[in-house]
Amino acid sequence: MAGLAIHRVTKQFGDHRAVDDLSLEIAPGEFVALLGPSGCGKTTMLRMLAGFEQISSGTLTLNGTLLASDQHHVPPEQRNMAMVFQSYALWPHMSVADNVGYPLKLRRVQGSEYQRRVAHALEQVALTPYAQRSPQELSGGQRQRVALARCLVTDPDVVLLDEPLANLDRNLRASMEHSFVDFHRRTQATMVYVTHDQSEAMAMADRIAVMRDGALVQWATPETLYREPRSEWVARFIGQGSQLQVAGGAPGQQLNESALMQGLAAPLTARTQPVLVRPEHIRIEAHSPAHSTNPSNLTGRVERLTFRGERYELHLRLSTGEALLAYHHTALNEGQHVAVRLLEGWCLEPDQ
Ligand code: ATP
Repeated sequence: MAGLAIHRVTKQFGDHRAVDDLSLEIAPGEFVALLGPSGCGKTTMLRMLAGFEQISSGTLTLNGTLLASDQHHVPPEQRNMAMVFQSYALWPHMSVADNVGYPLKLRRVQGSEYQRRVAHALEQVALTPYAQRSPQELSGGQRQRVALARCLVTDPDVVLLDEPLANLDRNLRASMEHSFVDFHRRTQATMVYVTHDQSEAMAMADRIAVMRDGALVQWATPETLYREPRSEWVARFIGQGSQLQVAGGAPGQQLNESALMQGLAAPLTARTQPVLVRPEHIRIEAHSPAHSTNPSNLTGRVERLTFRGERYELHLRLSTGEALLAYHHTALNEGQHVAVRLLEGWCLEPDQ
């Protein structure tokens, strides 16, 4: 099955390259996130998909049909895509139902067909009881659901979302994440979701394209990105963890406890391999290190303790000098010495 194919796409604004030789094959019905820090080219890529922006080189195809190349540009209204914006972009003087039906009016859909499709779209986002309200009488989350229903009503092949939750508070964002996932399951639409929030991308997307300086740096499922980040940069961007330098190992390799201990025991000049250690792979023994049964003899000092509700976060300074982030289920004292076990680590490509 064909889907949305982005092949070697570049976007040049004067002498600034906003998107740099980017290729992605998105399967039909897939929920994909474009994730990266501010200014990395996510929105520019989305706008090229929508047709609001011309591409400088490469090709875009949808189900085998060419949408764009440096010679060719299918205009936005002929792409059968819908876009949801951070700002909702609702008409304040129209009811919720009229907002949702607006794209149908533009397409001259009328009568019972119009009524049926508006009712169906409102049902999909659980807003049927709000059909006659004005957008001002709704919460931010409800407004975003109206925007979602409005894009759904035209039955698009692809839904493009540009940071749609950026204006919502934290609790509402979590419940909207569920709404988007439900929406995706029900409609089976192909969705491309732009965000700089890694937890949002991880919670919703089937696959995540991580972008840096216009280029694709990793394209993987959320689980793979978390467990097997390719480079030091991706590891810093996704999830929490500490990076240590060890001897031995190669990028893409997993190290067990004894390999990590050997790698840390080597002289500093031999320790050239960056390794990611996630906090859940660290064990802390709070009793006196002198009486520890810890086979590795690694110790650390608690420099800072932060209460996070379900756990404490410990910022440790290892006896070997490195900083380490660990979790613990009970409080410890700042300044306290503890025994530390590093159960596993993941070897990264060093930053350029
Ligand atoms: P954010 O998360 O802040 O929205 P982003 O990853 O979506 O960032 P883009 O908006 O795609 O990034 O911008 C990528 C780069 O291209 C930025 O350096 C931006 O200044 C530049 N840029 C975007 N649009 C234009 C334009 N029309 N003209 C010139 N430069 C532009």
